[in-house]
Amino acid sequence: MSWEEDFRNRYPCPCGKGEYEEIHYSDDWGRSETRYVMLCPSCKEKYVYDHTVIHGHPGDEIERGWVLKSVLEAEHKHRKSVEEKAKTLYFKLWEKKFKSLRTKKQMWEILTLNGKYYPSLGTFYKHTKGYTQEEMTKYIDGFFNYHDLKRVFKVCGVNPDWKYLGANKEEIQRFQSDNLDIQKKHEFIKTKQKGVSFPYSEAKPSEVTDVYWIYAVRKKGKYPKPTPRSGKWLIFVNPENVNEVWVKINKAVEEGKLGDSAKVSTAKPNPLAGGSKARVICVYTYDWTDEKDVKRIREELRRLGITNKIPYKADEDTLKGKYRITGHGRISKYYE
Ligand SMILES: [Zn+2]
Repeated sequence: MSWEEDFRNRYPCPCGKGEYEEIHYSDDWGRSETRYVMLCPSCKEKYVYDHTVIHGHPGDEIERGWVLKSVLEAEHKHRKSVEEKAKTLYFKLWEKKFKSLRTKKQMWEILTLNGKYYPSLGTFYKHTKGYTQEEMTKYIDGFFNYHDLKRVFKVCGVNPDWKYLGANKEEIQRFQSDNLDIQKKHEFIKTKQKGVSFPYSEAKPSEVTDVYWIYAVRKKGKYPKPTPRSGKWLIFVNPENVNEVWVKINKAVEEGKLGDSAKVSTAKPNPLAGGSKARVICVYTYDWTDEKDVKRIREELRRLGITNKIPYKADEDTLKGKYRITGHGRISKYYE
């Protein structure tokens, strides 16, 4: 099983004097991955590509992009400091929660809040097979880290002292929110964005620079309301072709031939992303488990000229930043 290159593009680097390359790969498992190579020698010294999906941003596919190494280093230092301070406040409490437990299953229940967090019970048993008590403690304590702070606070049952931790607004939001809240927030963002971009429904994506997305909304016929299992077909387009492709998709959505909506990224430069110039079109479906509907829409897209292989992603996976945060290939629900 091997990764195959689908296509590559070149774009101007941050300093503007050179270029970087964006290379798209996919494999037979339906995974896809994009790699970025800086070609400009002076930017190569200063920048690294950050695959982090920007949270709370309506751009499902927008990663943070090229970031100054000095900025990343400062962030790393900040995170370490938040983690250290959290340890001084709550580590004793954390240890206490696990101390008097007799079985591994009890430990798992506390650690994952009864399966709400990673890992599953089976994976937990696999990880800790044959562990001594000391090794168990080490394993459990490994979850007391910056990225798992939300879980840590819940396990400890504390209302964190944000000021002492030095956490910023975004972090406080992230460490406090529940998955369900994120779901609601996403629906809210979608709705809000639709409202914002209604005046643009006839506009050409390449000419719009004041909103990130333009939406198409169904005008004819009925379609089920989005479920928590909603998702979308993702179509990546070169900026030169985006208007032409979008006209067709916009029309098909309005005429009731696809789902309830679609969106396209515009020419508005994203100061945080700084990265990809490729445009993306998301064609939404109400439920990824309704395979018949998902495939019907794929078939319709083929009729509109989208004949190359494209991935289908569940919104839920997008929200969790699944597989992207770690920089690995992401799993698509479908790829055809
Ligand atoms: Zn450069």
